[in-house]
Amino acid sequence: MGKKIKFWLDNWTDNDSLAEKFPTLFQLSNDKEASLDKMGMWDGHAWCWVFSRNRVLRGRNTGLLAKMYAILSRVQLDKEIEDMLVWKANNIGRFLVKSLYGLLNPSPSLNTVFSFRGIWRGLVPSKVEVFGWTAIINKINTRNMLVKRGILDTSAANCLICLVEEEMVDHLFIHCYKHWLIWSKIINWCGLAWCCPRNLANLFSQWDSLVYGKFQKKAWVMLFFFVAWSMWLLRNDVIFKQKIPKYDTLFFLIVTRLCLWLKAIEPNFPCSSSDLLRSVEGLIRWTNSQTLRTGVMWSPPMTNRFKWNVDGSSIEKPGPFGIGSVLWNHHRILLGIFSLSVGILDSNVVELRAVVKAIELSAFNCFLHHKHIIIESDSVSVISWMNNLHNRPWIHHKLFSSAQRLASCFDSITYTHSYWESNHMADHLAKQGVHKISDFVAWLLPP
Ligand SMILES: [Zn+2]
Repeated sequence: MGKKIKFWLDNWTDNDSLAEKFPTLFQLSNDKEASLDKMGMWDGHAWCWVFSRNRVLRGRNTGLLAKMYAILSRVQLDKEIEDMLVWKANNIGRFLVKSLYGLLNPSPSLNTVFSFRGIWRGLVPSKVEVFGWTAIINKINTRNMLVKRGILDTSAANCLICLVEEEMVDHLFIHCYKHWLIWSKIINWCGLAWCCPRNLANLFSQWDSLVYGKFQKKAWVMLFFFVAWSMWLLRNDVIFKQKIPKYDTLFFLIVTRLCLWLKAIEPNFPCSSSDLLRSVEGLIRWTNSQTLRTGVMWSPPMTNRFKWNVDGSSIEKPGPFGIGSVLWNHHRILLGIFSLSVGILDSNVVELRAVVKAIELSAFNCFLHHKHIIIESDSVSVISWMNNLHNRPWIHHKLFSSAQRLASCFDSITYTHSYWESNHMADHLAKQGVHKISDFVAWLLPP
């Protein structure tokens, strides 16, 4: 029934509550105290989860939502059965002393691997890595620590950045207002939203899940270390050199440190620190050359198939989006293009609109009826939505059902992923579409 269980706050899926697992979505949710039965509706005997939030999801938040739906999809409410407690430490769901003993004496190695997973990866200079680790385990010499050891007088325990609170690790690195602003600026810079965690260790353990892409995940971990390290250097300058802290310079320094080390681990990374300061896009979209060689070449469709390369793009961020697409046959002959504006939307929705527009235009053109259509996009999320009914966010159901209805015009329709670099013509048309007042569609189909 789900009446007694709190959707966000109780542990009812895995080991953590959904609020801990998806802090950003929790922050956006309309009802943080809601019970399970308030977070969806019955469709006959099937239960459909519905996430109501106070604003539109943007960027990677839609990916987080898809992840959360993947967890929720494993749980079905039952109208007949009342909520009950289940002992999660064994498979039978019933309390046994043996399983309690197992819980109280976990293998020590497991504990350490879990808490500090991802720290020792050699992505940043070792002094920065060691520093990050000591900060996370709360072992650096903050003023509060020096007071405890009798090195400083109790009157000297306060943080020299805000002068208000005691200087403890979690205060200094997260909760001190100026430093909280720096984290917020970094997170906004990457197009994400966040909910400030309780401590630095929690922040680190959630950090990794915020971005996608192998290189991007590395960069993101490096960013964590450089933020903490740069804050520490600034704090030392304030104490030992009586410097006045400048937070714009701090942000600049963090991005510069990140950029230098990104180039150290990936010499082909093309962006300079000023490129990154202007826009983080170059980092988000970059893939290393090995991936380029194996996957980035565009290929024409097979005989008697027709391929749309679609894309959504914007010129400035935040700013309006355009969508664009090119239709090819197996002789690499261009058969049609479109380019139009879709306004300000979430980037995944923009990509979805481009896919649906390509289907609509194909359905309007009799030449393409009963043919094999391929739609290629560089959005991993949208391709996974199109290929798997269960991955689709309910909120876009109109677009999905329109695509599904029109798909009957063709013999087949397949959705494939391409890398951004192989989709540049569609990207170019999408950018041209940003400021178009009316839709531009051109067919070059054989008579
Ligand atoms: Zn402070």
